[in-house]
Amino acid sequence: MALLPAQDTAPAPRLPLRSEAELQDTWDLSTLFPHDQAWYEALQEYEKQSARIPLFRATLGKSAETLADYLDFSKAFGILEERLHYYSELRQTEDEGDDASRTMTGRFIMAAAKAEAAASWVIPEIQAIPDARMAGFLEHPRLGEYRIYLSKLLRYKPYILSDREERLLALHAEGENIPSEAFSVLTNVDLDFGSLDTPEGKRPLSQSTWSVFMENPDRTLRQQAYEAFYRPFEAHKTTLAALYGGAVKQNVIKARIRGFPSARAAHLFPDAVPEAVYDNLIATISTHLAPLHRYYRLRKQVLGVDTLRHYDVYVPLVPKAVKKTSWNEAVDLICAALAPLGAEYGQVLRAGLLGRWADRYENKGKRSGAFSAGSYQGAPYILMNYKEDSIRDVFTLAHEGGHSMHSFYAARSNPFMHYGYTIFEAEVASTFNEELLFRYLRDHADTRELALYVINKRADDLLATLYRQTMFAEFEQQTHALEEGGTPLTVEVLRGTYRALLSKYFGPDMVLEEQSDLEGLRIPHFYRAFYVYKYATGISASLALAERVLSGGEEARRDYFTFLCSGGSRFPIESLQLAGVDMASPRPVEAACKVFARLVDELLTYF
Ligand SMILES: [Zn+2]
Repeated sequence: MALLPAQDTAPAPRLPLRSEAELQDTWDLSTLFPHDQAWYEALQEYEKQSARIPLFRATLGKSAETLADYLDFSKAFGILEERLHYYSELRQTEDEGDDASRTMTGRFIMAAAKAEAAASWVIPEIQAIPDARMAGFLEHPRLGEYRIYLSKLLRYKPYILSDREERLLALHAEGENIPSEAFSVLTNVDLDFGSLDTPEGKRPLSQSTWSVFMENPDRTLRQQAYEAFYRPFEAHKTTLAALYGGAVKQNVIKARIRGFPSARAAHLFPDAVPEAVYDNLIATISTHLAPLHRYYRLRKQVLGVDTLRHYDVYVPLVPKAVKKTSWNEAVDLICAALAPLGAEYGQVLRAGLLGRWADRYENKGKRSGAFSAGSYQGAPYILMNYKEDSIRDVFTLAHEGGHSMHSFYAARSNPFMHYGYTIFEAEVASTFNEELLFRYLRDHADTRELALYVINKRADDLLATLYRQTMFAEFEQQTHALEEGGTPLTVEVLRGTYRALLSKYFGPDMVLEEQSDLEGLRIPHFYRAFYVYKYATGISASLALAERVLSGGEEARRDYFTFLCSGGSRFPIESLQLAGVDMASPRPVEAACKVFARLVDELLTYF
């Protein structure tokens, strides 16, 4: 098991060049444009259309007809823009160093920025149409397909300020990201974590190698890495607290300026998620921490340590199972696991994955990781860096396939203006597929090692998504409430708040280090406020749906497809409700905790 970052000892194998990739292993971008030349011609057309945007100014409120004229134009323009964007962006991810695609991306970004500036008046002009007049417009048949899009825009009206105030806010917005940018350069560039002596020689410690050290079986080395990693954070704790405190203060001020009752209310408003959903998540998890604490007790036993320490929580309990799975075998496994979704789902996904939706393997310069990019007119593309010896990659493919199928159904079932689903919903279809794949692999594992490995992996995934993200969500909730209540967010306040949460979530078997609470000052996600809770609600919804579909028969399956097809035609809470999951009730979160508890029970039988 190679657990340390390979530096000078083992040179990485030579990666193939992009030009050496087999055609069948690459995605076929021709559903967007047949070739680069066609893309450039379309870009010209886009720039020509962009110049027409100002011609519509001061016409939108005249009549339903003039508003429909503009929206028809805007729809065609938006579809063209999306195709141009996806083609250039996806081409660039194939090889980040490729000049031709970098040029295209650059050209597109410039043209799109120009179009955005040219259309800056549109939304305010629509929002300025008097309510009674707009109500009349909405009766017009030509505005039928835009009704949802318009109603989503009009919701913001109570929070819109005067023209002059909006202009000032827009000017001020340029400085908004300074705390997060300063945090990013401080932690990624300026902080020096040094290096550590290991049996394999000196190894650098950094934000990216930290997790490799935390997974090392050598406990002394883990402890040294832990202490060395937190030293620079300790030395800069006052700056880190000032940056995070500044970000929170800005969130609070912005919400107050617009008249929202709280920063959290402002952040939940775009998705129309009631604050009760957020409170319900935290309250339900808080009363279901027993399985998590049981998991840490088990971890302590398996590791054979007297006290469980913060540097003991990431080391794998189970050796990595080796099972070679070719791409085609992975597709077979995934489609077999997803059979409960019915024949059509499996056929479409199989044809896409064995055809050319996916860019399969690593090549020199290719974007790392994996993603799905579903567009309205093109295929729902998937970028992978698939490795045959990694079971984790089979899960990743099932996950991205879930996103792509969600996009496939959403694009097929909705007009362009509201086909896109929200981030709140996005991780439901993907993690649903992971859950079904997990159950299939566990039930069909041919060795004890493989079964144990997938159970342990699933438990770790749920822990990270359900419990850890809820802890983060609770921290954000508390820091914003403190700021709103007039308590300054000093180092001591932030560390104390975070420490109490660590104790609560890790439970009685964990002994915290002096520096454990510095973790709260180093997490980049906190600079994107009230966002991480969506991971926890997403996994709760998907686990509740998986239980429902696997035991509920035809009706449950139909409801799930209603969700996949709803795209952006409803707000997320409503679309999940149609699938049979009520996120305002404790039930889905309870169901998710039960699934986790069962995994811990299964693990207990193995050790
Ligand atoms: Zn995802």
